[in-house]
Amino acid sequence: MLTSAAEPLLSVAGLQSGYGKIRVLHGIDFEVSPGEVVALLGPNGAGKTTMLRAVSGLLPVNAGQVRFGGRDITNASPREAARAGLVHVIEGHRVFTQISVTDNLLLAGYDLARRERAARVEEALSFFPEIAEKRHQFGGALSGGQQQMLTVAQGLVRRPRLLMLDEPSAGLSPVLVDRVISVIDQLRARGTAIVLVEQLLGKALAAADRVYALVQGHVVLQASTAEANLPQRLERAYFGHEVSALAQPAQP
Ligand code: ATP
Repeated sequence: MLTSAAEPLLSVAGLQSGYGKIRVLHGIDFEVSPGEVVALLGPNGAGKTTMLRAVSGLLPVNAGQVRFGGRDITNASPREAARAGLVHVIEGHRVFTQISVTDNLLLAGYDLARRERAARVEEALSFFPEIAEKRHQFGGALSGGQQQMLTVAQGLVRRPRLLMLDEPSAGLSPVLVDRVISVIDQLRARGTAIVLVEQLLGKALAAADRVYALVQGHVVLQASTAEANLPQRLERAYFGHEVSALAQPAQP
């Protein structure tokens, strides 16, 4: 079934997940519309990375449902999710340092027909001129920040309908952070939806259409970034003063 205009691209309902017996997410409801940029915020340890992992199939979903593009993808493998158009660029992902930049990108499109794969690599490189310049060099010849951008470019080779970025700015210089944000703006202009986990609140609010705040595995706030006083409301939510989900009892 295809997504109708009214249906979100990603729809997560009552999601519970964690690590073995350790439950981290206690029933998350989360939606992303086609072409929307959504920031997922929250203090360290809130469960943001866990949430992305559970959605993209890297962690088992213990309860709840994940729908993407009108299909139930709960507990689908990361490969199946990526084939459906949901691509997760994991935090701290490393590139292959002993093969060329181009080969790193070709690997990301391993299952595509040769001509299509070459076209996708060019398309991904067009977002990152600084990497395109070094396409014949080893991945290891790129700076740390450029390697991080290469991991985003690898995600773009999949031509995602939804790209989930886990702290893409971590460890980047302010100039490179702005480069990443400008790529997010370009992707949004092309209709790609994005979920952005980001510690830099100002950057996240500037880039996103909506935000969700997660605290201790609960959604405590969701809002449009156009709403007033959002930084103050987020701060209150982090410290437990915003009503909504924190008032609900934790799932056993
Ligand atoms: P950060 O901003 O620090 O990355 P986060 O919101 O992404 O935080 P998670 O990394 O999802 O948070 O962690 C949520 C909880 O799950 C934390 O209590 C963390 O200690 C725990 N956790 C994370 N990874 C594992 C793991 N591999 N095994 C067990 N517990 C884990």
